[in-house]
Amino acid sequence: TREQVHNFAAGPSPLPTTVLEEAALGLLNYEETGMGICELSHRGKEFKAVIEGAEADLRALLSIPENYTILFTQGGGTGQFSAVLLNLLSAHRLANPVPAEEFKPPVVDYVVTGSWSSKAYSEAQRLSLPPFPSCPSFSEPRIAASTKSTNWTRLPSKEEYNFNKDAAYIYYCENETINGIEFPPKPEDDSAFPFDLVPEGVNLVADYSSSFISRPIPNIEKHAVIYAGAQKNLGPSGVTVLIIRNDLLVDTTQASKLGCVPPVPITYEWKILADNGSLYNTPPTFPIYVSALVLKHLISEKGGLQGLEKTNKAKAELLYQTLDDAESKGKVKLVVREKSARSWMNVTFTIEGEGQEKKFLEGAEKRGFRQLKGHRSVGGIRASIYNAVTLDSINLLCEYIKEFCGK
Ligand code: PMP
Repeated sequence: TREQVHNFAAGPSPLPTTVLEEAALGLLNYEETGMGICELSHRGKEFKAVIEGAEADLRALLSIPENYTILFTQGGGTGQFSAVLLNLLSAHRLANPVPAEEFKPPVVDYVVTGSWSSKAYSEAQRLSLPPFPSCPSFSEPRIAASTKSTNWTRLPSKEEYNFNKDAAYIYYCENETINGIEFPPKPEDDSAFPFDLVPEGVNLVADYSSSFISRPIPNIEKHAVIYAGAQKNLGPSGVTVLIIRNDLLVDTTQASKLGCVPPVPITYEWKILADNGSLYNTPPTFPIYVSALVLKHLISEKGGLQGLEKTNKAKAELLYQTLDDAESKGKVKLVVREKSARSWMNVTFTIEGEGQEKKFLEGAEKRGFRQLKGHRSVGGIRASIYNAVTLDSINLLCEYIKEFCGK
């Protein structure tokens, strides 16, 4: 049963049981309509109330300023790797409406701190083939800071950042799901994201896929775009949430007419989505419905963002403390060496000794701990402890780690 299992999946991840129970009812007979939520028109009044409710709840939960638009779309975080580039190049082109011959292609800056920001950077590289050889839309993406040489076990320090003041945007990933590294929220931490170094007027983009609504977002208003796939803290996979400053909702067809930038495929153009209230084409109605239920649950049952922050902090501290103690006994090793950069959501470690990892995972399975195996690209163990993972589950996992390491 669900009660016997503790699910530490990295995404798709566990959702609150009460929400799933309500969603199961809605799947069959939404609010006594005699029709399931997936059987209702996305333009009907029922679904409109769902999506508008989700938007209002998200705005309230994260205190999203009025000059930002919230969009629900598809394509996942990966879709936004390219959508961010294409939409922001159009915005940049419209802000620089010189004739094509005079257009100077901008740089785009990437902060690379783990697997997902690497993938976003690679996608920008892939798209850097110019649409018109004589008139490139941007130069090769730049790495503005990278911790690859230290295997993503730390974050850059302030001196390592090198932002370009003419960049069309700066990109970073707030929480690296695979590596378990996250920017600390307190500005006084050496490895906090250096908002003060972002040049005036340069658009800042953040991938929040795996830390969305786990705690407040520092400096929302310093961001141009924040996006997140739903499938960690918010809901099922299939819906991607975008928070976009309104001036960046631009007509990309207009931009392409100026030359040098390609028009953006229509389902990826943020303005089209915004002009149609996320209903330009059929949205993923069921994931949006479940996300709406999760938001209500977080607000009414979990104390909103402050409550979530408190619980998530307690969960992470307990697990890291247990692992630090276990490390001192030589049985486990935490992957992220810099304490303030350790993710609250994805706790990565290795089990030392020949055959010990297999033994650890087997023992974990017996106790009902599921999906603890690290990402296939890095191995090791990863405990993902998103909003729906309870402190009780963490306590039990800590007991097991202590037992495994000989108390
Ligand atoms: N960014 C981050 C931080 C992620 O964790 C993921 C997926 N785990 C992605 C992007 C890609 O998201 P998707 O699989 O929804 O395309």
